[in-house]
Amino acid sequence: TFRIRLAPIIREEKAIGVVISLRDITDIRQLQQMRTEFVSNVSHELKTPLTSIKGYVETLLETEADEETYESFLEVIKNETNRLELLIDDILNLSKIESGVNELEKKVDINKVVSNLLSLLKPKAVDKNINLKLALDDNLPLINGDYNQLSRMMINLIDNAIKYTPEGGKVEVEASSKDQKLVVEVKDNGIGIPEEDLVRIFERFYRVDKGRSRKLGGTGLGLSIVKHIVENHHGDIRVDSEVEQGTTFTIEFPIA
Ligand code: ADP
Repeated sequence: TFRIRLAPIIREEKAIGVVISLRDITDIRQLQQMRTEFVSNVSHELKTPLTSIKGYVETLLETEADEETYESFLEVIKNETNRLELLIDDILNLSKIESGVNELEKKVDINKVVSNLLSLLKPKAVDKNINLKLALDDNLPLINGDYNQLSRMMINLIDNAIKYTPEGGKVEVEASSKDQKLVVEVKDNGIGIPEEDLVRIFERFYRVDKGRSRKLGGTGLGLSIVKHIVENHHGDIRVDSEVEQGTTFTIEFPIA
């Protein structure tokens, strides 16, 4: 997309020519479009639970429900409220992370990051009878980064691996060093991702199966947060997946 400007050249009150300027505004346009899209997605995502809450509250106010119905409605309202809270947290996280990293100069030990998350993640795995296996080399090289962001990245990836793996499955977290890089892998033997969706899963609010993701408590923002964190740390992320076989996320970071 180009913006064209025309300006006459005037000498002694006579137009003797014209200056034509062309400016490529493709990037600006794209950025504007992405912003507009984001705002409209956010509004839609926030509105869905809100509409549901409103509906249930109105029904409770207008009808005389028995105690059981009353409680089940309140339960729905509670769940939708939690969902709203999660969404808002993720949106705030995303915008904070998008604005960059402040403490990249700190040295972070990914081994420590993962072991400190175990008390949070282990119960989720146990709940689904999932074998959560860690294979982190001792003496892993440190990376320059932000401890909290790297924790968030690991939580989102491992959370997803547990969420999208059926009962009795396996989730493995591996870390090693190779060619001056720290390589982290989160591998599951879950439902997998269809090939046509693979290129889009890092987009905000993109979900392969909206209904399933929502039921599992997903906001569709987890992987776009992960991607931003990896970029903030000058790393690379890739995903390999096969439907009904499993998914592997591989991240590489430059060593400090
Ligand atoms: P969500 O909150 O829906 O999990 P994410 O951004 O974390 O959102 O992930 C985007 C989508 O990618 C998910 O809705 C899901 O369809 C797919 N996905 C992510 N991780 C996995 C995984 N380990 N196995 C299968 N599908 C996954």
